[in-house]
Amino acid sequence: MDHLTSLPARTTYDTIVIGGGPAGLQAALTLGRMHRDVLLLDSGRYRNGTVEHAHNYATHDGIAPAELRRLARADLAAYDTVEVREVAADRVEPDGDGFVVTIGDSTERAATVVLATGVRDALPDVPGLAEAWGKEVAHCPFCHGHELARGRVALDVEGPHLDRLTAMLTRIGAELVPVGGRVQRVERIGGGLDLTLDDSTIHVDGMFVAPSFSQSAPFAEQLGLDLNDSGCVRVDAFQSTSVAGVFAAGDAAHHRDLPMPMSSILTSQAAGLVAGGACVQHLLTREASAVAQR
Ligand SMILES: Cc1cc2nc3c(=O)[nH]c(=O)nc-3n(C[C@H](O)[C@H](O)[C@H](O)COP(=O)(O)OP(=O)(O)OC[C@H]3O[C@@H](n4cnc5c(N)ncnc54)[C@H](O)[C@@H]3O)c2cc1C
Repeated sequence: MDHLTSLPARTTYDTIVIGGGPAGLQAALTLGRMHRDVLLLDSGRYRNGTVEHAHNYATHDGIAPAELRRLARADLAAYDTVEVREVAADRVEPDGDGFVVTIGDSTERAATVVLATGVRDALPDVPGLAEAWGKEVAHCPFCHGHELARGRVALDVEGPHLDRLTAMLTRIGAELVPVGGRVQRVERIGGGLDLTLDDSTIHVDGMFVAPSFSQSAPFAEQLGLDLNDSGCVRVDAFQSTSVAGVFAAGDAAHHRDLPMPMSSILTSQAAGLVAGGACVQHLLTREASAVAQR
C-alpha cells in the first residue's frame, strides 16, 4: 500500500479552466483544438453580466455579451475533449505534479490550471445604481462613450478620474455634468436616468462611475500566487503565474508593466488564447520529460 500512496496522483484532465467568460472560453477553445482534455468550470457570474450591448470589438461591435458566450459555447461543443460544467470551484491546490480542484463534495485533477475568474466591481452604495449598471451607468468610455455622443452625461467621479473622463468625453461631444459624491438615488426612466442630488433631481442620458474591483475568486490566494499592486495576478508574457503549471488570463491577471488589467472582451480572449497555448507547451515539456525518465 505504501508504494501506491507515494505514486503521483492520477491526472484526469490536461487542464482545468476556471471561468467561462471571454478569457476562459478562449483558453478552452485553444486547448480543445490541440485535442487536450479540458474541463471548464463556470459559476455563471460574469463581470459584464448586466450589460446589454458590448462595444469596441471588431466584427461584433454592439453584440450582447450573453450572445457572445452562447456563440463561444457552441464553438466548444465541436471539440470532443472539452467538457463544460456550470458549477463553482471552491479550492485549488497543488497535488503531486499537478493540481486538485475541489468542486463541492467532489474533486478533479489536472496537470495544469487556467484561472480566468475575472474581477468583481464594488459600486458606490447608491440606491438604484446597481439596476442601471452596464446599461445607462458604466465606467469605461471606450466601451460605452460613443453611444452617449451629444447626450447629457453625469460624472460621479473625482480627482484624476474626473480629469481623464472629462477630456475623453468632451471629444465625443457629450454635455458633462460633474456630480461627484452627490448622487443619492438613481432611477432608470425614459431611456436615461433621473438622479436625485442633495437638493434637486436632474435627468441625464447616462452616467460614469469609478468602482473599485477585487478578485472574484480565492484561488490566487490559496495557491500563494504573486500579485500586482492592483490585486490582480502577476503573469509574464505567456500568462504564466509564479507557480509552474498555473496560468491566468483576462481581468484577473496582468503583466507587471501594466497598472491594471486592460479590461475588454478582446484582450481577455487574447490572453486566454496565449494561456491555452502556454499550457500546451507546458504539457509537451512535461510529457517529454516523463518519456526521458522511463
Ligand atoms: C459594466 C461593464 C461594461 C463593459 N463593457 C464592455 C464592452 O462594451 N466591451 C468590452 O470589450 N469589454 C467590456 N467590459 C469589460 C469586459 O466585460 C471584461 O473585460 C471581460 O468580461 C473580462 O473577461 P474575463 O473572462 O476575464 O472575466 P468574466 O467575463 O468576468 O468571467 C469570469 C468567469 O469566471 C467565473 N468564475 C468566477 N469564480 C468562479 C469559481 N469559483 N468557479 C467557477 N467559475 C468561476 C465566472 O462565473 C465567469 O464565468 C465591460 C465591463 C463592465 C463591468
